[in-house]
Amino acid sequence: MRVLLTGGTGYIGSNTAVALLEAGHQVLIVDNLANSNERTVQDIREITNKDVDFVLGDITQPAVIDRILETENAEAVVHFAALKAVGESVEKPLAYYRNNLDGLLTMLESMERHGIHNFIFSSSATVYGGENPVPLTEDMPAGTCANPYGWTKLMAEQILRDAAAANPKMSVVLLRYFNPVGGHRSGKLGERPNGVPNNLMPYIVQTAAGIRERLSVFGGDYPTPDGTGVRDYVHVSDLAEGHVAALEYCVAHHGVETVNLGTGCGNSVLELIHTFETVNGVSVPYQITDRRKGDVAVCWADVEKAGRLLGWQAKRSLKDMCRDSWRCRG
Ligand code: NAD
Ligand code: UDP
Repeated sequence: MRVLLTGGTGYIGSNTAVALLEAGHQVLIVDNLANSNERTVQDIREITNKDVDFVLGDITQPAVIDRILETENAEAVVHFAALKAVGESVEKPLAYYRNNLDGLLTMLESMERHGIHNFIFSSSATVYGGENPVPLTEDMPAGTCANPYGWTKLMAEQILRDAAAANPKMSVVLLRYFNPVGGHRSGKLGERPNGVPNNLMPYIVQTAAGIRERLSVFGGDYPTPDGTGVRDYVHVSDLAEGHVAALEYCVAHHGVETVNLGTGCGNSVLELIHTFETVNGVSVPYQITDRRKGDVAVCWADVEKAGRLLGWQAKRSLKDMCRDSWRCRG
């Protein structure tokens, strides 16, 4: 199948491009390189030994998308393109709403014009808010998001539900990612944030590499076994394979499905640090500081639906995640 990946030179998109190509699909990427590098296209070719098409373009521009969908025979769209820095979204909310929602609407309108109905969306566990018990199931009520980035995901999910309700030909899979980490085992296609990382794993990597002096562990007094926050870390290669399964489901069905992509297990901040140190033979200096505003104590997925609906489950271990994150440090 020929698949259009928006944001396909980014972290999750590029790993998904590899998984799709390895599963025998054809991949076309559109990306404006706002948070990625064109070199990634070559990395994908080298890893898979297959060709991948790349269009440099902004998905908020209807003419860009119309031109691609007119000429490229894509049967499905996997929509990664979005701005994702939580802190920046608080400082520049309008830029986040404009890019993330305009991009989505532009894609959907152009798909409608060209009779393309299969759509996979990158959502996030952040939409659950902090009020639900773990493990989080897809039917739990969505919460109140702590920042504009999270709201763009919740709003996008609603837009997609409404669009699918109005068009019975549409098939939409809303994938709620938990905490993606790791990178391709080749040492390419890792997460390389610009500036100071927001997320734990890139901060651990940069601290181990000596780029940051010390990691702050946000809170040591949570009601968890070691007092630090617990999350569902999932290897990006598992996540990528989840997209291949979601695509196969999407083209065979109609309507909207929401699916958690996680391992179903929780690990604490200290467990992640100590596993990283052991697996890679490095040291990660840290200090326990105050809790970070907006953080919940624990968050992990119920993954029953992903198994039942998509036939997918995460295979890679926390050790694999730590090893491949370090390999991909660049
Ligand atoms: P990323 O920043 O590495 O990739 C996103 C890509 O989209 C980038 O290459 C960027 O250049 C591109 N892009 C942004 N706006 C664009 C536009 N207007 N036109 C064309 N390209 C545009 O991010 P990622 O970590 O790969 O995340 C992919 C998706 O998954 C995003 O939607 C993100 O919100 C979502 N998500 C990510 C995480 C995570 O922890 N990484 C968790 C949950 C959800
Ligand atoms: N965290 C931390 N120090 C950091 C970054 C994150 O202690 O520098 C903790 C955070 O409090 C949470 C976990 O690591 O318990 C995962 O945070 P991240 O920002 O990676 O993902 P989130 O689940 O918050 O989206």
